[in-house]
Amino acid sequence: MRLSALFGSFTTKIVIPVFAIAAAVSVAVAGILMWSSVEADNVALERQEGLARLVVSQMQATVAYNQESVTVWDDALNAVRDGSDLEWIDYNLGSWMHTYFGHDAAYILDSTDGLVAAFSVDAETGEDGFAALAGQAAPLIRALRQKMRTGDMEGVGGRFLSPGATDLMVVEGHPAIVSVKPIISDTEEIEQTPGEEYLHIAVRYLDGDFVAELERDYLFEGMRFSWNEDAGEGEEALPLTAASGEVIGYFIWRPYKPGAAVLSRLAPVLLGFLVLVLMTIAILLLVISQRSRKLAASEARMTFLALHDPLTGLPNRALFDQRLEAALRAVRDVGRKVAVLYLDLDRFKQVNDTLGHPAGDMVIKEFGERLKALTGEGDTVARIGGDEFIVIKPRLRQAEEVEMLCERIVATAERPFEIEGHQVFSGVSIGVAFAPAHGAERTELTRKADIALYHAKSAGRSRYAIFGNAMDAMLQTRRDIERDLRLAMGRLAKGKGDEISIHYQPRYAATDMRITCVEALLRWNHPSKGWISPTVFVPVAEETGLIEALGELVLREACKAAVLWPDIPVSVNTSVIELRNPGFAARVADTLSDCGLRPERLEIEVTEGAVSDNIGYCEQNIRALREMGVQIALDDFGTGFSSLGRLKQLQVDRIKIDRSFVQGFGRLSGDEAIVQAMIHLARARGLRTTAEGVETREQSDYLKQVGCDELQGFLFSSPVTLNQIDALLGVKRKMLTVVASVA
Ligand code: C2E
Ligand code: CA
Ligand code: CA
Repeated sequence: MRLSALFGSFTTKIVIPVFAIAAAVSVAVAGILMWSSVEADNVALERQEGLARLVVSQMQATVAYNQESVTVWDDALNAVRDGSDLEWIDYNLGSWMHTYFGHDAAYILDSTDGLVAAFSVDAETGEDGFAALAGQAAPLIRALRQKMRTGDMEGVGGRFLSPGATDLMVVEGHPAIVSVKPIISDTEEIEQTPGEEYLHIAVRYLDGDFVAELERDYLFEGMRFSWNEDAGEGEEALPLTAASGEVIGYFIWRPYKPGAAVLSRLAPVLLGFLVLVLMTIAILLLVISQRSRKLAASEARMTFLALHDPLTGLPNRALFDQRLEAALRAVRDVGRKVAVLYLDLDRFKQVNDTLGHPAGDMVIKEFGERLKALTGEGDTVARIGGDEFIVIKPRLRQAEEVEMLCERIVATAERPFEIEGHQVFSGVSIGVAFAPAHGAERTELTRKADIALYHAKSAGRSRYAIFGNAMDAMLQTRRDIERDLRLAMGRLAKGKGDEISIHYQPRYAATDMRITCVEALLRWNHPSKGWISPTVFVPVAEETGLIEALGELVLREACKAAVLWPDIPVSVNTSVIELRNPGFAARVADTLSDCGLRPERLEIEVTEGAVSDNIGYCEQNIRALREMGVQIALDDFGTGFSSLGRLKQLQVDRIKIDRSFVQGFGRLSGDEAIVQAMIHLARARGLRTTAEGVETREQSDYLKQVGCDELQGFLFSSPVTLNQIDALLGVKRKMLTVVASVA
């Protein structure tokens, strides 16, 4: 969609303007060419008109010049004066002129303008011809006699030997040159009175021959003479004007148009060139558009990559931030309700540790798909970290919607993931926060969803929790504990601390009440808060990874203490986190050998979580420890999911019946019967039993009666210091062991 929009803008922004410019340039070039061709044609026309005029005026001069071949001649003068040899006159001054020079008529006048001889190709008789001409020619004749009388020699010299007068007029229905010359002596030996000379009038028609000559010799195409200015299509008319300015008629021809000729020859070339240019532009544009399309595509890909997680293709943290900001704007502006679901896969680290990262990636991908399938169109599913996802529901109507969604998500994550033939079980914990109820600001809302997630996790995972204000306070307390615990451990490592210590609680044989085992229990005496229960700080240590160092400290100290005791084992509580570490069993072996304690004298108390953990190294560690000779006790038995029926499969030597059962004695819950059944089953499976939290004689008596092996509780001894346990065991220690440095 983005691409086509971009392409659309390419069309409007580039293609259309470029072609518009190309069209404008083409039109301009064509215009200039047309204009210049018209100009060239105009210039050519002017020249042709000039030429036609020149030819006419030259013809006038030629007629006069031709006349002089007979008018400046003593023989002619004598002949006309004599007037007897008309034949000679007619031949030499008339028909000869017609034959040689194409004159159409000739008239000889005497000194009083009387007609001496006449020659005409058209007229019936010479007299008729002259009669038709006389009136028109009179001004010419007058003008010539005036010149002769005054001796005006203008125009004489060079080609011309005598003055003359010439004009254009219509003769016998023809446009014609009429030229008048005096007949004079060529030897100047015959005297004549100036102004009274014999005159020779020559007539030369300008249609017919002359027009044909113009067409032939001067390339006036289609030249014709017309009395009217009736030039047709593509023709030009040039007026033929007498000296008086009167228009006699018109020469009409098809003028030569060099511009049009050039244009018509140039047009196909130009058109071809234009097509070539347009094609080049089109190809260039195509290339550019393809490039920009590719660029846009790679740009789009880059923005996609910048805003999406490459593994799942889901929005990443950056895009999540943008989407949540947008959703929260709608909360502020139009009063929408928004839910933020913070999700974290359970046991994901174990998947990665045991099956490798590619398998982990596949779980993430598959979970992302399942999540996407459960959410709606407008919802955002983002992957914001390793196994952390966030769902934004930007148009929330009821909180129940979110609860339903959470339940479905939890259910979908409990379905096994098929990874390379393995069935991987994971699960997801979800924390939910609502806007505006829990805040309308991105970081605040996300943080609160995260806090709720934390609670869901600590409440046992594979569940969801909705943020409550108490959670915030609880989280703060947890943070304080973490910080202070780190400080305490840091001081301990420097040998300066006595905040953390170990107390010992004995366990007794039910039969004779001798001490059969001693359980090591962590103690923390906070400088300002006083004694903090391990039930409070151990989970924090588990979450923050501090448990490994703490566990090792307890193990080492307990082993050191136990070395001096009579031949009874020491029991050490171990977190499932420690057991998942592949090196745990080996580390226990090292500690035992360091302290010089036989493995048989160590008991590890594990929780049900550890024995049923199908991920990680718990099972291997437990098996390795047992092979070494270390005893395994299942702590808090009955509180978890281990059924009595599964007891045999469990890799343990002993069960410790949880104190809640013991303390339930005498109540309606019927815990006595349960405990009895537990003991019987355990015995049947070859397991030993310890009852915890024995506080009353009645509890003790009943447990003894149903065959419990060991008893432990305040009734016999609460957890005590090392000195006190030593005293109870009759051991004298030379030096008080201070809890030594943490590894
Ligand atoms: P747990 O392993 O079940 O330990 C027994 C708890 O019951 C101890 O609480 C003990 O003081 C208490 N107790 C003993 N007798 C009685 C009795 O008669 N009545 C009652 N009400 N309580 C009795 P404590 O020391 O507060 O430890 C709590 C839990 O913290 C332990 O439960 C154990 O899960 C954990 N913990 C303690 N030390 C360690 C440790 O070093 N490592 C690990 N991972 N967990 C530890
Ligand atoms: Ca215990
Ligand atoms: Ca216990």
